[in-house]
Amino acid sequence: MMTSRRRSIWLLVLLAGLLVASELTAHPHPSAVLTPVAPAEPCAEPVPDLPALKDQLVAYHDSGRYADDLRAVVARARAYLEAHLDPARKQAIVLDVDETSLSNWPEIVGVRFGYERASWNRWVERAEALAIGPTLELYNFAKANGVAVFFITGRREHQRAATARNLAAAGYADWDGLTLKPDDSDVAFAAIYKAAARKRLVEQGYQIVLTLGDQQSDLSGGFADATFKLPNPFYRVP
Ligand SMILES: [Mg+2]
Repeated sequence: MMTSRRRSIWLLVLLAGLLVASELTAHPHPSAVLTPVAPAEPCAEPVPDLPALKDQLVAYHDSGRYADDLRAVVARARAYLEAHLDPARKQAIVLDVDETSLSNWPEIVGVRFGYERASWNRWVERAEALAIGPTLELYNFAKANGVAVFFITGRREHQRAATARNLAAAGYADWDGLTLKPDDSDVAFAAIYKAAARKRLVEQGYQIVLTLGDQQSDLSGGFADATFKLPNPFYRVP
């Protein structure tokens, strides 16, 4: 039988234990606390370097990687078209012009990736842009298989003659339509203007099997069964 004195001692031991436990919970042992780390050096994010980025773009083009990337996308577009040919339907494909059907590289690199309206207009009027080879092959493949080809471009209506002259000189022959933006158009986004132009073709009974462009704004907005996006790290058209 435990004496009352022994009970008191046990009670004291128990209380002491509880006190220690609660103390530990409130103030964990120093070894359980993360040692504060000395403030790190400020994160050394590299400062963007525009001339270096432009050099990278030139290297991307000149190394042949750009041409390879173009060819790979157009190959997928052509395979898609080939798999979906249907002579029973009134089929069409839609091509953008700049950096899709024609390459403006001399102008792009000539102004070091800037956009100078006067310089650009002179370039368009000269009609010297060369074909983007894989797109020209896709064009010829479509035409040879009874598929209509329509160009829809953000170039303005007053540039129609020069654009048509350039497309023909680059090897595009007998296209089925060339839609340019009206000179007085105040549509802010190419995507809206281009989707509306495709909608008109669909309303004429065309099945637009695919549309090919270098800008997302060439492709969004529907009215095409499939879209294929070419690389263009050189400029952006919203
Ligand atoms: Mg384009």
